[in-house]
Amino acid sequence: MAARDDKTQDPVLRQQLLLTRRGQSYFSRKLHELSDAEFDEPSGLAGWTRRHLIAHVGLNARALTNLTEWAATGVETPMYSSPTQRNDDIEFSSTLPVQALRNLSDHAAIHLNVEWRDLEADAWMHEVRTAQGRTVPVSETIWMRAREVWIHAVDLDNGGSFADFPAEFVDRLLTDVLGAWDKRRDAEALPSFVLSPTDRASSVSSGDVASAVTLYGTATDLAAWATGRGTDGVSASTGEVPVAPRWL
Ligand code: ZN
Repeated sequence: MAARDDKTQDPVLRQQLLLTRRGQSYFSRKLHELSDAEFDEPSGLAGWTRRHLIAHVGLNARALTNLTEWAATGVETPMYSSPTQRNDDIEFSSTLPVQALRNLSDHAAIHLNVEWRDLEADAWMHEVRTAQGRTVPVSETIWMRAREVWIHAVDLDNGGSFADFPAEFVDRLLTDVLGAWDKRRDAEALPSFVLSPTDRASSVSSGDVASAVTLYGTATDLAAWATGRGTDGVSASTGEVPVAPRWL
């Protein structure tokens, strides 16, 4: 009989898988609250209808399934055959009948979850290459998927909110975004920031603290700002709240 539980016993991986599955449930719930007609309306992302966004999230699950199968079998299976293919697939899938889009979302998520569940414990450290060309252990796909499902649930723009996110997700998101800015700071001359969440014991920073703009707000509001999802509840030491650099 097939295992119904994750093969990995690593408590950290199991916790991450739980967080991502909760995110998938949240995304699916928001999606199922949409009527068929509402699929045609704009998403929260510029230039994309909800159809584009739903297609993207489904195709992302397939792409991460490719990486998980790569780790399981050793047969190189990239996320996408090319950046053009990624975008063409989103465009094409966005034109599918609504029921087909709903099925894509559900089935791709289930398939990815099965691949994760059945991945042998020692295979989680196997290295794969992301669409951005980064070489990472396949365990990184869990966090990659967490970001997609939680944040794009809000981008569906039908009532999802960063306020619904678990604190552990919000905190890791802040670390992730600030780390991404750190890596690109010199090349892109990014400004420095201190984020001082009013509901956390300590601040987080990116760049040179002495010259940084300090931003205040709840950790949730700061995470929304840092990922380019609005400035509600955020204030800045310089008065006007600056636009956050791009994240990914
Ligand atoms: Zn995305």
